[in-house]
Amino acid sequence: MMQLQIECNRIPAQKQFCLTCSSLFEMTEAKVIICNNQGKSYGEICPPCLRKGHQWISDRVNQLNQPQRKVTIRQTQNLEIPISA
Ligand SMILES: [Zn+2]
Repeated sequence: MMQLQIECNRIPAQKQFCLTCSSLFEMTEAKVIICNNQGKSYGEICPPCLRKGHQWISDRVNQLNQPQRKVTIRQTQNLEIPISA
């Protein structure tokens, strides 16, 4: 079981590679992390990927992981992230 976790980013404007599209992006004040139910972090998601929705992110993470280990992303919090266009 994978989860989307939102954390407050104390170091804004830090550059980070996106887990799902591998592009370098500048993090906003809220960062979204994909993690499992043990709290292990897999990586962070850039705003454009985030806009594609949970189903898309879930599919992408499944592609990145072993096909036999299908994961489901469960939204644990409301995604209220200020995304600048
Ligand atoms: Zn991305």
